[in-house]
Amino acid sequence: MSSGFHQILPNLYQLPVGGTSVFVIVEDTITVVDAGWRTSGRRVVEFVQRLGRAPQEISLIVSTHYHADHIGGMAHVKARTGGRVAVHEAEVPYVQGHPGARMPNPFQNTVVGLLMTPLLAVMQPRPFAVDLQLHDGDRLSPLGGMEIVHTPGHTPGSISLYFPQHGLLIAGDALEYKGGWLDRRRQLGLPSGMVSSDMAQARESVLKLAKLDLEVLCFSHFPPIQGGAGPSLSRFAESLA
Ligand SMILES: [Zn+2]
Ligand SMILES: [Zn+2]
Repeated sequence: MSSGFHQILPNLYQLPVGGTSVFVIVEDTITVVDAGWRTSGRRVVEFVQRLGRAPQEISLIVSTHYHADHIGGMAHVKARTGGRVAVHEAEVPYVQGHPGARMPNPFQNTVVGLLMTPLLAVMQPRPFAVDLQLHDGDRLSPLGGMEIVHTPGHTPGSISLYFPQHGLLIAGDALEYKGGWLDRRRQLGLPSGMVSSDMAQARESVLKLAKLDLEVLCFSHFPPIQGGAGPSLSRFAESLA
């Protein structure tokens, strides 16, 4: 970690914003993965400027899933940059704010969900138009090839992003990597059942990810595993079987 961000590859940054993360891929054009909370959109644009690049160079904005800590800043980043927004097909109605497709309350416990409703209303992302619908197996150009891996369970349209040339995965919220006391002995885990729509699917998605050839594993809410991630993920997947 240096001055508020992780540099995972020479041209891949993890920018922590309010307990979540934005990933920024800097090439001829710039790709942004997630955009944090509603208030984070400005930080994303400022970060790109800090790298000496113009916000208009952001050409692609990818959503890992519709939760407010991931797409909150997206309307701002899109408006400021003209970047195309890419979202898994299952979540397009939620983020575009179609009538009748109100964003589901992420809290699975009804009482907790009710208690959180006023807070959720404040944090509710502004709707934005989707330019590109994503499907499992789609391949886009960033970092020499970025494969869309549909990893439902946390949400129905959760995706992880796989970069085979680098053995690198951005898991989004499909995996956790929680620390123990003083952050020692971090351990891989399933997404929290508190805010995940289908835990059986979430387990299946981890088994799917464990088949990838991995060296580096990145999470939205935790620091990355910078080397040897494949064996760690395989061991975790075996423990679920
Ligand atoms: Zn989430
Ligand atoms: Zn999250």
